[in-house]
Amino acid sequence: MRFDIATLFPEMCERVVNESIIGRAIRAGKLEVYCHQIRDYSTDKHHRTDDTVYGGGKGMLMQPQPIYDCYVAICNQLRTRPHVIYLSPQGQPFTQQKAIELSQRENLLLLCGHYEGVDQRLLDEIVDEEISLGDFVLTGGELGALVVVDAVGRLCEGVLSDTVCFTEESHYNGLLEYPQYTHPALWRGRQVPPILFTGHHANIARWRREHSLENTFYKRPDLLERAALTKDDWYFLEELQLMETLKNRLD
Ligand code: SAM
Repeated sequence: MRFDIATLFPEMCERVVNESIIGRAIRAGKLEVYCHQIRDYSTDKHHRTDDTVYGGGKGMLMQPQPIYDCYVAICNQLRTRPHVIYLSPQGQPFTQQKAIELSQRENLLLLCGHYEGVDQRLLDEIVDEEISLGDFVLTGGELGALVVVDAVGRLCEGVLSDTVCFTEESHYNGLLEYPQYTHPALWRGRQVPPILFTGHHANIARWRREHSLENTFYKRPDLLERAALTKDDWYFLEELQLMETLKNRLD
């Protein structure tokens, strides 16, 4: 899969994507990430990319021309039109489901705004969807673009050693993951749950499912409404709810 990032800070993005698992995947040819300097496409003699806002108000806005020319250059390189995402506080919140959906695409162009954002006409002309990191405002879209590359990139074939690495993780099936432990078996008086030493795969799987449900019940109960749950899961959750009610009565 190929990602193109259009930004005023390509060095910042390059530094991050070339580290760790995504960096290794790039070097192994599993992913391609290209960071484009929008300023290089400005036709202004001083390479300006922003100007004041019509109608008044503080701050500067990114102009449409440099971004559009950058987009056309990327389309020409790709010989096709990429799916264009504008990172924006006005977009839909980014989720694991969105990451899974985007990982099916071959090309993503991530547009990073700065200052007061981007001229609306450019957004109307080239953007397919807006994605937000959350209900807060950042100084630029770069952190959002890097989050998308990381979350989507790790789902692409060959990037992680095994698809189980992410299919059992939080949010993949609508639940949070179960607790995990490594060596030593005893640390500061805290013991690894004995069932994990038994080698009994079915019991371990059941333990993990129940603890995944328990984690979700206590930390993010809102997720349970949308998760695909079995009859056994519901029985387990009812027991948890009952125990909670009793505990609250005793307190
Ligand atoms: N004036 C804009 C508004 O109120 O909607 C905010 C502009 S913000 C200061 C500058 C840039 O940061 C945006 O163009 C966008 O690319 C990025 N950005 C800010 N908050 C973000 C968020 N929550 N998620 C993703 N990108 C964000």
